[in-house]
Amino acid sequence: MSIAEREVGMAGGALPPIDLPSNCPGCGVGLDVEDLRAHNYVCTQCAHHFRLGADAWIALIADSGSWQERWGDVRSHDLLNWKVPKPYQAVIDKLLKDGLNEAVRTGTCTIAGRSIWLAAFDFRFVGGTLSIVAGERLARGMEQAAAAHVPYVLIAASGGARMQEGVLALMQMAKVNAAVGRLDAAGVPFISVLTDPTFGGTAASLALLADINIAEPGAAIGFTGPRVIKQATYADLPPGFQSAEFQLSHGQVDMVLSRTELRPMLTHLLEMHS
Ligand SMILES: [Zn+2]
Repeated sequence: MSIAEREVGMAGGALPPIDLPSNCPGCGVGLDVEDLRAHNYVCTQCAHHFRLGADAWIALIADSGSWQERWGDVRSHDLLNWKVPKPYQAVIDKLLKDGLNEAVRTGTCTIAGRSIWLAAFDFRFVGGTLSIVAGERLARGMEQAAAAHVPYVLIAASGGARMQEGVLALMQMAKVNAAVGRLDAAGVPFISVLTDPTFGGTAASLALLADINIAEPGAAIGFTGPRVIKQATYADLPPGFQSAEFQLSHGQVDMVLSRTELRPMLTHLLEMHS
């Protein structure tokens, strides 16, 4: 069974298993895996939101059986013969063998019966980095969404551009940025859901450029991480710096929403814009 077929069966139902620590990093309580899974991997004691992969996001957002993956067979290759710290091609081959499929997966689905284009980052694949393939999947999806006047929903989780692809990864920022412009020119709603963590070129090129930016509670969101900023500015950073709540209070995101409230909010926003 292909990944896509497996997810059609899963969509709208239980989320797939994810790697979990034995205790919650938020409150320290021992985790009941099945209970946590039934609550969409949000701690019932302290509301810590555990990171989800693209497969779980698709299952959470899409109506049952509606997910149609696009360009899932486009693959990254080591074009620059990158060897440090590990041979890049070997890293990609291992991740593919483990059942992951790039740092971005994209396709069409419905939410409460309304058609959308959905793209979900997967932090497990080289830190959710923006690669040539990720950029191509994002840009193609946005172009088709703009042409068909179908709303575009992004789930972001990324460390930035993929340095193993050098300038070829960096140019994806300009490409997806232009594609966001096409959504805007076509008057097509673009909703971005910022999850932990969203940083670097991904935050700078598309994740924070949506018409509506929604963040998960406690998610770290920014361009450069706090350690580098502190080294560059010699300044003490304020408490909660770069958290979703900090970004909300500074106008960088429009709302901070628990995972349970996300699908109802997306449904509401899509209804408003239909
Ligand atoms: Zn907890």
